[in-house]
This record gives sequence, C-alpha cells and structure tokens, in this order.
Amino acid sequence: MSKDSKTGLPEQVESWRWPEQKWRGIVDKVRAGRSLRPASWPGGAHTAVALSFDSDHETQVLRWGHESPGRLSAGQYGARAGMPRIRDLLRRYDIKASFFVPAVIALLHPDEQRANVAEGHEVAIHSWIHELNSQLPPEHERDLQMRAADTLEAITGVRPVGIRTPSWDFSPHTLAITREMGLIYDSSLMADDDPYELMEDGKPTNVVELPVEWIRDDAPYLAMDRFGAARPYMPPSGVIEVFKREFHGVYQSGPGGLFLLTMHPHIIGHWSRIQILEALIQHIRGHAGIWFATHADVARHVRAQAKMK
Ligand SMILES: [Zn+2]
Repeated sequence: MSKDSKTGLPEQVESWRWPEQKWRGIVDKVRAGRSLRPASWPGGAHTAVALSFDSDHETQVLRWGHESPGRLSAGQYGARAGMPRIRDLLRRYDIKASFFVPAVIALLHPDEQRANVAEGHEVAIHSWIHELNSQLPPEHERDLQMRAADTLEAITGVRPVGIRTPSWDFSPHTLAITREMGLIYDSSLMADDDPYELMEDGKPTNVVELPVEWIRDDAPYLAMDRFGAARPYMPPSGVIEVFKREFHGVYQSGPGGLFLLTMHPHIIGHWSRIQILEALIQHIRGHAGIWFATHADVARHVRAQAKMK
C-alpha cells in the first residue's frame, strides 16, 4: 500500500465517493451464503476435526524469485524432517489429514505425495509455485490452477477435489475458476467457523467453503524471517492454549461443529512444535464423539446433508 508522503498514513482511495452499486458489487463478488453446518457428523459424531498441512517447503523462497540455498534449506526441512515426523504422528493416532501442495513441490518431492495418498491422506491444490493469485492476470491464474490440478493427479493418481489458495490470497476470479473445474470445496476464506456455500455475484455456486483463520494457523505464532518482521513470539504452551480454546468453543457450540487447523511442515515439524500437535490431538481425543477427517470428507458430508449435487 502506498503512503502519503506528508502524513506517512496509507494513501486514501476516495471510497467515500463510491455509489452504492460499486461497494455492494465488491462485497457481493464473493461472499458467504447459506450455512452448511450439519446436524451431526458421520456415525452421529459430535465434532469434526480437520487437520491440514500446507506443504510449502521450498516454494516459500522460490515464490519471491529468491535463490538463496540458505533460505531454501529451511523450506527443505519441511520435506526432509517435518513430513516423516508428521506422517508418523498421524499414523500413531490413526488420523487422516489433508495436504495442500504447490505443483512445484509435488514435482520436487513426488514420493512424499504418493506416500500421503497411500496412507489415506488427501492431497489438494495449493497453486503452482505459491504465487499470489491477486497479482495474476485472470487467464494466468486459470492456467496455473488447472495445471496444478493436472500435475497433482499425474503424480498421485488421484484427481484433487479441493483447493487452498496460497497465503489465502483469493482473487475476484478464483471462485469462477474453482467452479469451472468442478472442485467441491475451497478452504481459503474466513466468514464463519462452520462450512458455508460460496456465493458469487449474489448467486449460490455449489462450492463449499471450509473456513480457515490466522488464529488456527501455526505460521503467525511461529514463523521466522531473518530480514523481515516475522519472529516466533509465542512459546509452544501459548500456541497449544489458543488452539485448545478454539476447539473448546467449537465443541461447546453443540453437535455439528468443525475444528479446522492449518499447519506447515517446515514450521510445525520441529521437535518443540510437533509436540504442540501431539498434545492437541491427545486433548481432542479426550472428548466424546470426535470425527477426524480430511477436508474432502468433511465437504462430502456437508454436501450430502444439504443435498448439494
Ligand atoms: Zn502455503
């Protein structure tokens, strides 16, 4: 955002001059429609828990056009040390999770994706090289999203059914592309705790949103950038505390709630952090009626409940 040279404040666009049609059109472009919170989850379960990992690895560096082997190595840690540890943890607790994987990462680490699918996990779309959608011309965004899906399918043998946009950067065109591709869900937006149907220009789209939040993400608390502002600012115990409180709220809200958590193998995979995830899983398993599921299975269930095709 450009700054006013005299005041140092963000430069104002004269939005107060906009006619109603203008601001209403912007808000209505992509927004939440009907709630898809189900009465209960499969087998009469009380609360669904959907764990997701955004396997960004080296694309956290490549996305900016950087070539530093030092910075790339911190991403590579996610593939090399983080992923085996995460898969081992999920195996020990018999949990199926979702992995959102940039196509470039799938090409760099194809065996990782095949192992995920072989163990019953979901591999879903997460851009080409972690590019920001809102900076792309619409035709490039469409091409990259479609090529990303084809690449994941070619490597794993399974056609992805869902998408998470990189950095949750959703352009005004993303939803139309997702609809065109026939994906059953998106997991990049934040309008609710419960699943909802996405609306485009005021019309239902038949696409399920499984909402994310920075609060339920490891990166804001634990990411590190030597030359930027990001520093880990919370101890593991603090992160567990926030996640437990979010889960507690969902569980207390009654049957049909969804607790969805986003993590990154190069962040949560470190020893002091994988313990956050294990402690959280143990805490959640202490509650009756928990259904651990992939995002795709959560989306399929709410679609069936709401009689969506
Ligand atoms: Zn990502």
